[in-house]
Amino acid sequence: DAHKETLEFKAEVSQVLDLVIRSLYSNKEIFLRELISNASDAAEKLRFESLTDEQLLEDDPNLRVRVLVDKDAGTVTVSDNGIGINRQEMVDTIGSIASSGTRQFADALRAAQGAAEHGEAEKGQAAGEELIGQFGVGFYSSFIVAERVSVISRRAGLSAEHGVCWQSEGHGRYTLETIEKASRGTDVVLHLKEEEKEFLDPWRLRTIIGKFSDHIAMPVEMLKEDLGGDEDEEKQADKAPEFEQVNRGTALWMRNKAELSDDDYKAFYKHISHDFEEPLAWAHNRVEGTNEYTALLYLPKRAPWDMWDREQKHGVKLYVRRVFIMDEADKLMPHWLRFVKGVVDSDDLPLNVSREILQHDRKIDTIRGANTKRVLSLLESLAKDEPEKYQTFWNEFGRVLKEGPAEDFANRERIGGLLRFASTHNETDEQSVSLDAYIERMKDGQKDLYYITADSPAAARHSPHLEVFRKKGVEVLLLSDRVDEWLVSNLHEYQGKHLQSVTKGKLDLGDLADKEEQEKAEQAEKEHEDLLKRLKDSLGERIEAVRVSTRLVDSPACIVVGEHEMSANLARVLKAVGQ
Ligand code: ADP
Ligand code: MG
Repeated sequence: DAHKETLEFKAEVSQVLDLVIRSLYSNKEIFLRELISNASDAAEKLRFESLTDEQLLEDDPNLRVRVLVDKDAGTVTVSDNGIGINRQEMVDTIGSIASSGTRQFADALRAAQGAAEHGEAEKGQAAGEELIGQFGVGFYSSFIVAERVSVISRRAGLSAEHGVCWQSEGHGRYTLETIEKASRGTDVVLHLKEEEKEFLDPWRLRTIIGKFSDHIAMPVEMLKEDLGGDEDEEKQADKAPEFEQVNRGTALWMRNKAELSDDDYKAFYKHISHDFEEPLAWAHNRVEGTNEYTALLYLPKRAPWDMWDREQKHGVKLYVRRVFIMDEADKLMPHWLRFVKGVVDSDDLPLNVSREILQHDRKIDTIRGANTKRVLSLLESLAKDEPEKYQTFWNEFGRVLKEGPAEDFANRERIGGLLRFASTHNETDEQSVSLDAYIERMKDGQKDLYYITADSPAAARHSPHLEVFRKKGVEVLLLSDRVDEWLVSNLHEYQGKHLQSVTKGKLDLGDLADKEEQEKAEQAEKEHEDLLKRLKDSLGERIEAVRVSTRLVDSPACIVVGEHEMSANLARVLKAVGQ
């Protein structure tokens, strides 16, 4: 239907818009990066779909993005001949924000605004930027500079009369209208605010494109400036407009490492990751041989809001010979490294590769194995050379890395070396103690690595189970993340040393044990046989045994589980998730 309708944004969108405008104002030129990024994604999607349906390209096979200025109308337009958007997609994508995340975003937003209203404007703004980074609300950055935005689009494969025009001033409402559009793809038209007219200067735009969009693989074109000025107007009007490419337009990952600066890598990261923050570190490798490919992998600085979502998307894009094949290629990285972002470009996979094929492809397995090793090396060198950066990484992603030993048997030992824990050695609950540091501090005669699991750092630290360790000056690792039980049930040893829970079984302190005390305990066990029996009888089935222990110093009693039984904490965790 061709009718024009007026729709409301999903409730939170207006709030988000306000926030975007407020917090990105000091960095307003990024609107162009965001729109070019979307246009380039759209063109890449069409290139991929056209592999199986050539018709989609119509008579316009050269995919590109154009940036156009109309000084009289006061508009800047970002135009692509990509996949386009149909009417329903307009409602679903442009009219709403990352729909699954909208609720969380709105909640987080209210917190950020709360900070802003309590006179902590700066804090509110910083939180805002962080949020935008996490949620990637790229398109809405248009409203930083525009008082009105029109998105005019036609989906590839639909005929000219099925164009759509979306328009909004960003105040809670937008209109949607079916229109004629001769060319395929999308034009985003920004009607600039009076005070933002500086963006009508083509040279200003070229500079911004150079800064942000130089390394995207898609050509970005602008009208060739009329520099001569001696042709008469009539002659000019006759000529078809001539465009020239203003970005480099070669995929960054294909270029030589030696030619690339940190800024190049950072700019490219922002393009592929939809993250507003800079990456923490990256690794760029070209592999030659029978399975040739290039991998450019990034560690983000901050975990996305949906890190713990079961459906959390993977961040590596797959290309085949420079053609974009798919986002979120989850076979290129193991699940426990799902936070890694980047690009893998294969020379040897077929262009028509599907998710199903990837599932069983030997080449993909090899690439995933090598990617895993690359990320481990990157993390190892961060941990060694830039421990502060590594700590940042650990605080954000440590709980994900802890899934590693269960999923990747072969790399267990290397992952073990990257783990960080809270410990009785430190006063703080920050997870900063490595197993290697623990081993260095082990007492003479100590054989095992001791840990305790509990449901909070405080509960771990104050457990009566630690009394004897404190007395003997033996360090105990304090584990209180949910994933920790899973971790220790899969990581039984490190550097040949057994990981031992202090709450399990008959505590064997080996040479650390006090012989005399041990004997005293045995003695006491005999002497108090009656008492122990009475305790056992009255507690009956609920317990297995009552023992005299050398574990305790101040507390009268504690509960211990069998060596091979579920720890009390794991039982609690399972109960909480309804098992
Ligand atoms: P993101 O790019 O992170 O998905 P954006 O806010 O930048 O978020 O864009 C939202 C969505 O709108 C995109 O995912 C895409 O589906 C759609 N979109 C935006 N611009 C275009 C375009 N030029 N062509 C086709 N779809 C687009
Ligand atoms: Mg985007």
